[in-house]
Amino acid sequence: MSATLACIGGTSAYDLLREGALLASRVGPMQTPFGESQPIYLCASRFGEFYFLSRHGENGYEVSPSFVNYRANVFALKSLGIRTVVSWSEARAVSHNYKIGQYVLVDDIIDETRCRSHTFFENHGLSSVRQWPMFCPSIRAALSTTLHEEDCRFADRGVYVCVEGPRQETPAEARKYRQSGGELIGQTLAPEVFLARELQMCYASICYVARYAESGFDFRPFENGRILEPRLEAERAAAAVERLPRILERLCDVLSRTECVCTCERAMEQFILSGQLGRDWRMWFEDSPSRNTSDSYLP
Ligand SMILES: [Zn+2]
Repeated sequence: MSATLACIGGTSAYDLLREGALLASRVGPMQTPFGESQPIYLCASRFGEFYFLSRHGENGYEVSPSFVNYRANVFALKSLGIRTVVSWSEARAVSHNYKIGQYVLVDDIIDETRCRSHTFFENHGLSSVRQWPMFCPSIRAALSTTLHEEDCRFADRGVYVCVEGPRQETPAEARKYRQSGGELIGQTLAPEVFLARELQMCYASICYVARYAESGFDFRPFENGRILEPRLEAERAAAAVERLPRILERLCDVLSRTECVCTCERAMEQFILSGQLGRDWRMWFEDSPSRNTSDSYLP
C-alpha cells in the first residue's frame, strides 16, 4: 500500500537525512503550480513507509522560514496521495512551564507572519475556511499515544505563536505574546497548517522546546551572536531531534490501528456544495496564474 503519511521536518531535519538516521530514498523535488517543492524522501520503517520533506533544505539550513515555499511543499505531498501531515518544528518557550527538550503537541496558533502566501486560492473569492479544531484531533491523539508508548516527556497542548523572522523576537514582543496567551514561539507552522486545511489534509504538529524565548528577564550569555545554552539543555534539545525517526516509525504503527474520526477531508465541503470548487481537487488550480507550464506534477 502506498504511503499516506508525510513528515515535514524543521531545523536539523537535514541532519537526519545527511547522517542516515532515516532509511530513505530520494524521490526528488516536485514541480507544482506554485513552484518547486523541497526534495521529498520515501522512508522505510518496520511499520510502513512514509514521506519526509526537510522544510529548510536537504543539505543544511538553506532556506529560512520567511522564504520557504509552503504552498509547493504542501501541494507536492497532496499530489503524492498524502492524507496526513505531521509537522515537527523547534520552538522557543515563552513559559518556563515547559522544559528544554520536551515535546509539545500544539493545539492552537496565533499567526504573526506578514510576508507569506497564506492561501492556494488567490483571486478565487473563497474565504471563511473554518479553523477549528486548529489541528487534526485524530492525529493529535495518535501522536499522544505514540509519545506515551515511546516514554517521551511531552505536553499535550500549547499555543504556538508563529512569527515572521528570520530574526528572533524582541524582549518586548516576547512579553506581548505571553500576555496574548502565547506559550511557544516559532516561525514555521503558518501558513503550512492553513494550506494543509485548504487541501483537506489531516495536519498535526509536534514541537520540541529548543530554548526559552528572551523576554528580557533572564539574561543568557552569548558569544559570537549565539546564545550559550547550558550543556545539559543543549543535550536535551539534541536528544529530542535524535528520537524523531523512532517516533515517526512508532506513529506509523499507531496510525495503522487508529480509526480516523476527524472532518479534515471535508474542510472545503461548503465551497464544493456551493459549486465554487469541483469534487476533484486537482481541477481547483487549472487556472492558477502562477501555474507552472510543466504538464505534470511528477518529480
Ligand atoms: Zn484529520
